[in-house]
Amino acid sequence: MIIEKYRAKSLVREQKNSTAVHLNPYQGCYHDCVYCDGKAENYHMHEDFGTRIRVKENAPELLEEYLRKRGFLPVNRDRTGTLADYTGEKAHIHNAGGERFTIGISGGVCDIYQPAEEEVRMSRQMLQMVYDYGFPVFLLTKNKLVLRDLDLLKRINDFAGATVCLTVVFSVENEHLREIFEPRASTISERFQALEILHNAGINTGIWMLPILPWIGDDDDNLESMVKSAAEACVQFILPGGMTLKPGRQKRQFLGVIGEYFPELLDKYARLFGNDHRYGHMDEAVVKEFGIFDWYPKMERLCGKYNVRMESW
Ligand code: SF4
Repeated sequence: MIIEKYRAKSLVREQKNSTAVHLNPYQGCYHDCVYCDGKAENYHMHEDFGTRIRVKENAPELLEEYLRKRGFLPVNRDRTGTLADYTGEKAHIHNAGGERFTIGISGGVCDIYQPAEEEVRMSRQMLQMVYDYGFPVFLLTKNKLVLRDLDLLKRINDFAGATVCLTVVFSVENEHLREIFEPRASTISERFQALEILHNAGINTGIWMLPILPWIGDDDDNLESMVKSAAEACVQFILPGGMTLKPGRQKRQFLGVIGEYFPELLDKYARLFGNDHRYGHMDEAVVKEFGIFDWYPKMERLCGKYNVRMESW
């Protein structure tokens, strides 16, 4: 793994009609998941996405600059006059215009707790800034390293609220599939253990169950075991979702692995994504032919059975 630091021009991404802003101090992801959407050319990532990790070394400055420009002050650092309402014990920071939001430090196209974070500690610096400014936070990862920052997450949670999600698409019984598709991320057991520890620390937790891989991860046993483990770890919700496969690098690498480990599925996958849709959407006729989304009602039933809230997009 090569870690390369650089000074970025921008960090924070706003989304239309969203109460959250998103940021990610990394480019590239050493987890190198086979299905990773981040490899698709439209994100303009470098070719060696899975081994050369680029770090925005000025990310803390950029975040602070962004928050100051929007009229926020570091309430937990300087005890300055930031405006806040309170619901129960949580603070809702807002600026003079009444704007408020959650800060999402989340994967998107690069995991914020990938191995480089152990050395660089950039996600931790982001969290510190979130705490200083008194915002609620949302995190998404596939790595148990998130537990390193439990102290800070607890402080953020006590003040304004914190939600931590882990992505899980294979059950603990299917660790061999995790090794194929998510070779360098934490094991499935480690992820469920992390969720349990976070829950016991009072933090909201959830599972992003996506992408559910057709013919590989959508069988009853895999789905039920994941939902059961989620219930045992006391997660608040599960968000399941299907997969996309964009033409170019993402599709080439994915089909290469299918050809190697699941040659009997190669033709089906080639047909499912044979339309080369620019956003990687499946071919609808093939979706219907194979009942690809039949997992959805199953997930509704399983979430009901184990009493876990199911979210949908
Ligand atoms: S952890 Fe997420 S960002 Fe990293 S390689 Fe896997 S899918 Fe891509």
